[in-house]
Amino acid sequence: MAVTTPSPSAERPVVSHHPNPTEAKLLTRKRRLILHAKLTKQRDRLLMNVHLSRLAEREAEAQSDPLDQATEGLEQELTIQTRIRALEQLHRIERALRLMQTNEYGRCRRCHQEIPYKRLAVKPDTIYCVPCLSHLEKEWPV
Ligand SMILES: [Zn+2]
Repeated sequence: MAVTTPSPSAERPVVSHHPNPTEAKLLTRKRRLILHAKLTKQRDRLLMNVHLSRLAEREAEAQSDPLDQATEGLEQELTIQTRIRALEQLHRIERALRLMQTNEYGRCRRCHQEIPYKRLAVKPDTIYCVPCLSHLEKEWPV
């Protein structure tokens, strides 16, 4: 019976560490592609939601019952608010996708520094770095 002992080097998987701490922040080509896929997915979902809410509204209009109309006003108000928010987000996503066509994506509009990838991963449609955003929020409180 032949016993083959694997060499210790074969057992240990090769782990590549990034010696450069700034590398974690950089927007590499691969990361850009990941963000692009994320943005496209978000956009498609939003478009679908907006489309579905329109369909639901039309359906509700078609089956309108005068007794329901009191609550309908409030419901409609809410749908409009939700839709406005969805459209605003869509606008930001479209802008980010457009910026990706250029080299401007991932660069802060205010300080022109590169936005850390960690932030872009959380909010791929942002155009400000965290310090600038908090500064702007102080200037124009929302
Ligand atoms: Zn900035």
